[in-house]
Amino acid sequence: MSRKLIAGNWKMNMTRAEGVALASELAARLKAASPAGFDMLVCPPATLVAPVADALAGTALAVGGQDCSAHDKGAHTGDTSAAMLKDLGAGFVLVGHSERRTDHKETDAEVAAKAEAAWRHGLVAVICIGETEAERDAGKTLAVCSTQLAGSIPAGATSANTVIAYEPVWAIGTGRTPTAADVAEVHAHIRKELAGKVDNPAATRVLYGGSVKPSNAAELMAVANVDGALVGGASLKADDFWGIAAAV
Ligand code: PEP
Repeated sequence: MSRKLIAGNWKMNMTRAEGVALASELAARLKAASPAGFDMLVCPPATLVAPVADALAGTALAVGGQDCSAHDKGAHTGDTSAAMLKDLGAGFVLVGHSERRTDHKETDAEVAAKAEAAWRHGLVAVICIGETEAERDAGKTLAVCSTQLAGSIPAGATSANTVIAYEPVWAIGTGRTPTAADVAEVHAHIRKELAGKVDNPAATRVLYGGSVKPSNAAELMAVANVDGALVGGASLKADDFWGIAAAV
């Protein structure tokens, strides 16, 4: 069993002052709780990776990006490369978040190319997958996860360079979550599907994401094969995000 990772996705929120204050507060709590039994990561918007990473230098709280380009540099206006994130102090990057897949029509192949770009520059790729509500209703959840895993994980994945985040699209930002039994079924399936795709499936962290909050974190984090959480809304307040970590 891996050490749990509690990751916060701030999405398109926070000014510089707010982000630095939140990250500093979390780092202080992490230090006071040391040795904590979990790892913690915050993923601010690209504009805040530098000030947040600077504020967290020397602390145990890790910083990640929310997306990166599949390209290393060049004529890609508006994009941010993995090398740039690394240069600012990031250690992780989310790739294939459902909001990227929906808003920017990202395909599994593009997500895989982004994960490879992340690895080229020493970042851990947090590869996000998950079914829509229509796919769940049609009984296709496991098949959708299999397809996304097969298409989004490039050759060369290891338990050190890759984290998987299972996020049912219908649970993101809605306050709705699958039952613990449903999460257990999907995570067991993902673990099985990682065979042949990562070097060490048992040691690869598989996070659950989708409306995790302090009140449901203990139940969700206790599910077999759940190695942590990817948290959106509840990662924007120190008490809520810390409450989730504390439930671990
Ligand atoms: C997310 O954006 O990855 C997420 C899980 O959001 P929320 O926790 O708000 O559902």
